Amino acid sequence: MAGNGISAAASGNGKAKVVIVMGATATGKSKLAVALALRFDGEVVNSDKIQVHDGLAVVTNKATAREQAGVPHHLIGGVHPDADYAAADFRRDATRAVESILSRGRLPIIAGGSNSYLEALLDGEPGFRRRYECCFLWVDADTSVLERYVGDRVDCMVEQGLVGEVREFFRTDAGYSRGIRRAIGVPEMDTYFRMEAAGALDGDDELRAGLLEAAVEQIKENTCRLVCSQLRKIHRLRCLPGWSIRRLDVTRVLSLKVGKAKDEEAERTLWESDVVGPAARVVETFLHS
Ligand code: ATP
Repeated sequence: MAGNGISAAASGNGKAKVVIVMGATATGKSKLAVALALRFDGEVVNSDKIQVHDGLAVVTNKATAREQAGVPHHLIGGVHPDADYAAADFRRDATRAVESILSRGRLPIIAGGSNSYLEALLDGEPGFRRRYECCFLWVDADTSVLERYVGDRVDCMVEQGLVGEVREFFRTDAGYSRGIRRAIGVPEMDTYFRMEAAGALDGDDELRAGLLEAAVEQIKENTCRLVCSQLRKIHRLRCLPGWSIRRLDVTRVLSLKVGKAKDEEAERTLWESDVVGPAARVVETFLHS
């Protein structure tokens, strides 16, 4: 990783600098965070309230070791799947992670979709804003394109083993209001696994396929609802003082991904020109200000 020696720079007001990558689910926040970390000698702090738990890597879309590309990631896993992890826990742990990253002379990049956690970190405690100056980036896309991409991504999760992964967490006697079991993809599979546990799917492939299809549709719908709620929160935050958020448009990249003819080279080019390039310029200016 090539350091550029400016990552831990303090601004004129003596505050250390922190980059924050926001956006709805599936927009590429984690990928952008890694790209920026590689460019600016950074480390990533996860701000997705579900990904802090151990388990369900596919369903919660945790960045794989390959996707992390050697960039240290903080607060991905480490919390027991059933444990409660409140905004106050995030505020404490994220602050510690930011401090430790800065102590190594590197740039903290907070990335994730849980806007209530970000708000708790930045506005729930005056100390954070007093010590750190923040640069906000928002990866966004036209909603219709994003919703189509979300659908494709759920199909991909099924191919990558969603059913087996969620089966491990199925319990007839536990609800879906705590810990990682709140993750979209878990409650939606309840009927499927209840029927399976009762032996009702043995030898009935048609019923099994029908139940899976219904669950997958529900997962897609609920993910689209999550997208809308995350966007509402970002629009609200954007109107608050201290939340000067720079929007980056990933629509053209996602349009290629949902298109029939895959063109990975074009996708890479657009990802650089539309997202990473503009984001890097914003961060460069921020670090030198
Ligand atoms: P809220 O205050 O509504 O909880 P938030 O911004 O703190 O909002 P979100 O990240 O929007 O939290 O998460 C809301 C819900 O969306 C979670 O409780 C969970 O059901 C689902 N969710 C969030 N992130 C993921 C994920 N990575 N994988 C699966 N489901 C998720």
